[in-house]
This record gives sequence, structure tokens and C-alpha cells, in this order.
Amino acid sequence: MTKAIYPGSFDPVTNGHLEIIKRAADMFDKLVVLVSVNPNKTSSFSAEERMNFLRKVCYDIPNVEIDSFDGLIVDYFRKNDCTVIVKGLRAMSDFEYEFQMAHVNKHLCPKAETVFLCADSQSTYLSSSMVKQIAAFGGDISAFVPAAIVDDIFERLDTTKQKG
Ligand code: ADP
Repeated sequence: MTKAIYPGSFDPVTNGHLEIIKRAADMFDKLVVLVSVNPNKTSSFSAEERMNFLRKVCYDIPNVEIDSFDGLIVDYFRKNDCTVIVKGLRAMSDFEYEFQMAHVNKHLCPKAETVFLCADSQSTYLSSSMVKQIAAFGGDISAFVPAAIVDDIFERLDTTKQKG
């Protein structure tokens, strides 16, 4: 059985993340979307909120599971008998960091292969931080995040609601 993990901040999940999740779920028997909990990194949404957003938008993908982890990805990988790490690549700017991470992970755990999926052309410029900046000014984020979480994001960020 192939069991992939897709780790990230998902602060919050965007249409770009969701597109990668759907494609990876088609490629592997099981896909765990892993919310990283890093106490040294400031996130706008708590780990529980980020997981709830993911649960809401992935409810209809049967082989997707949502989990969180506050340690090294390779430790989770080993403990949970995973076979592949999935990462999304938007532009060359993602590449250097992701390339480095893939090599470090492989060094720490030789079984940990990273598979990169290219973002589709519509998601290439999309990031969680861009979504938060638009939302903070009450802008329309409906083209960038799944419809099921648009209201939640505005309520949580306590800004003027504006939907597409
Ligand atoms: P961000 O850089 O937006 O904070 P995350 O840490 O949540 O992203 O990203 C988790 C993974 O998803 C990374 O591999 C990242 O490159 C990828 N990713 C992020 N945004 C997109 C997108 N719009 N399209 C495809 N992949 C993405």
C-alpha cells in the first residue's frame, strides 16, 4: 500500500493546496495531509482551525486523512509507515527550499522519497499569505480558497465580510 504525506502550514488551505491534494489522492492509496505545528513559527490560525478547514474541504475525498505533527517530518514518516512525501511546486522560488528539504529528509531517512507536483497555472501565484492579506482588507478571496471556508476565514480574521 502506498501511503503519502503532504506536509505544510496550510494557514489556511488554498485552492492551490486542494488541487495538489486531489491529484496526490489519485496517485496514492492513502494521503495524509499533515499540518505542521511549529511553536517558533507564527501562524494566523491554530493547528486545530487549520485541520478543521482541511477536514471541511477534503470531506469528499475518501482516501485523505488530516493529521498534525510538531516534530520532524521524517519521524512522522517512519512512525506511520509512509512511503512518499508529496510537495507542491509553484515557481522556481519554491524549488531551492524544497530541493534542500528533500535532500535533508532523504539524508535523515533514506526511505523518504519526495515527489514534486507542479502547481497548475491558475495556482502558481497563490499563497496562504496572499489570501490573508486580501482578507485582512475585506477583499474577495472566493477565487483563491474553497467556498466552504470563505466565511470561516473572514469570521476568524474579524474583517468586513465580502463574498464573490
Ligand atoms: P505556504 O508557502 O503558502 O505557506 P505551505 O507551507 O502551506 O505553503 O505549503 C505546503 C506545500 O504546498 C508546499 O510544498 C508548497 O510548495 C505547496 N503549495 C503552497 N501553495 C501552493 C499552490 N498555490 N499550488 C501548489 N502548491 C502549493
